[in-house]
Amino acid sequence: MTHAETTVAVIGGGPAGLMAAETIARAGVSVTVIDRMPSLGRKLLMAGRGGLNLTHSEPVPAFFANYGSARDRLAPLLEAFSPAAAIAWCEGLGQPTFVGSSGRVFPVAMKASPLLRAWLGRLGTLGVVSRLRWCWLGWDGDALRFATPDGERTLAPAATVLALGGASWPKLGSDGAWVSRLTGIAMAPLRPANMGFVVPWSERFRQKFAGEPLKRIALTFAGRTVRGEAVATRDGIEGGAVYALSAPLRDALGEVVVHIDLRPDLSHAALAVRLARPRGSASLSTFLRKAAGLAPVGVGLVQEALHGGASDDLCSLIKAVPVRLLGAKPLERAISTAGGVAWDEVDARLMLRRRPGVFVAGEMLDWEAPTGGYLLQACLSTGSAAGAGVLAWLDEQSCPT
Ligand SMILES: Cc1cc2nc3c(=O)[nH]c(=O)nc-3n(C[C@H](O)[C@H](O)[C@H](O)COP(=O)(O)OP(=O)(O)OC[C@H]3O[C@@H](n4cnc5c(N)ncnc54)[C@H](O)[C@@H]3O)c2cc1C
Repeated sequence: MTHAETTVAVIGGGPAGLMAAETIARAGVSVTVIDRMPSLGRKLLMAGRGGLNLTHSEPVPAFFANYGSARDRLAPLLEAFSPAAAIAWCEGLGQPTFVGSSGRVFPVAMKASPLLRAWLGRLGTLGVVSRLRWCWLGWDGDALRFATPDGERTLAPAATVLALGGASWPKLGSDGAWVSRLTGIAMAPLRPANMGFVVPWSERFRQKFAGEPLKRIALTFAGRTVRGEAVATRDGIEGGAVYALSAPLRDALGEVVVHIDLRPDLSHAALAVRLARPRGSASLSTFLRKAAGLAPVGVGLVQEALHGGASDDLCSLIKAVPVRLLGAKPLERAISTAGGVAWDEVDARLMLRRRPGVFVAGEMLDWEAPTGGYLLQACLSTGSAAGAGVLAWLDEQSCPT
């Protein structure tokens, strides 16, 4: 059965797809948002669990630099729907924002649920309808094929936006199955981005410190140092500072060693003075806690290194304790996905060159960025661009030159 009533199908109801739908519906064009899950925006809700980092307040050149090799392709889209526009949009949905000490921008509510609720309400007012539990299977000629609870259906809209996400956290909906459905379209392999790494902790360390935060540390790899926090997990390490270096760590392939400065606020010389105090009968652990001000998990890291054969120069160890990473955690557990539809496959308005009338937005495109609000910002900006692209395309179709 083919439904002709919908003018535009947006497949994927995450932030990119919903922003495309909003842009199109605002122009009075009928839009149906289609998603394989029973509700929309599940990953957005998950993103709000640890504090929804909407965007970043840093000035534009520094902001753009976070998108690496996709920077030049994304820059015009980020200019068209800028961080300021994202903040205004969020506030327009009744969710005031604030700038955190790191320059990151959050809704005051911190959670995504009030924002998503207000957004879906607005979309409803604009006439956007949704089809849930409809899984896109690919094309049958020019028609879109779906598996639905009522069997297989096809749709033949005038334009389509694909906003199917990456492949992390597949139970939230985006499973990357679209890769095999976009036959003939060049793409970079999907890989984990902003993910943890596996560390061969000793049993003793694992039992004592799994789940412990490493606060105010600096992580160094390949000449790049990032200050922030991390968490020791049962089988590895994750958290903001690790994510910030995750792309070069992943690209280094195989086993690598990172160095953690456990007291980045103290110079080597200042720390050496503290460690020159007589230790007396104190255990190494007590001494390190008292003289160097290390948290127990920091002491544990130093002890892991000593057991692993590191030199017993405590000052140098505290300033650069080596941690061996065996490899990246799998894509399913990553915050985001690198890779996706190659930029050369889409035009400036994000329409597939080989499938006119089909637009791509969000994490499906080949870009990656660190955490810090850059992910949602790019999803909103590409969603807005794809929506504007659809409107321009429909205009061209109705009055061809
Ligand atoms: C734990 C966690 C925390 C995060 N925190 C932040 C943060 O604070 N700030 C930030 O900027 N980013 C954060 N992110 C990343 C952010 O959530 C994603 O970058 C963003 O949701 C991607 O948006 P999207 O619209 O491209 O895809 P998604 O949000 O993944 O949406 C894609 C949609 O497509 C649907 N779909 C997929 N395949 C099909 C199909 N075949 N048929 C029909 N529907 C389909 C899915 O069900 C899904 O609803 C976080 C991510 C995680 C996992």
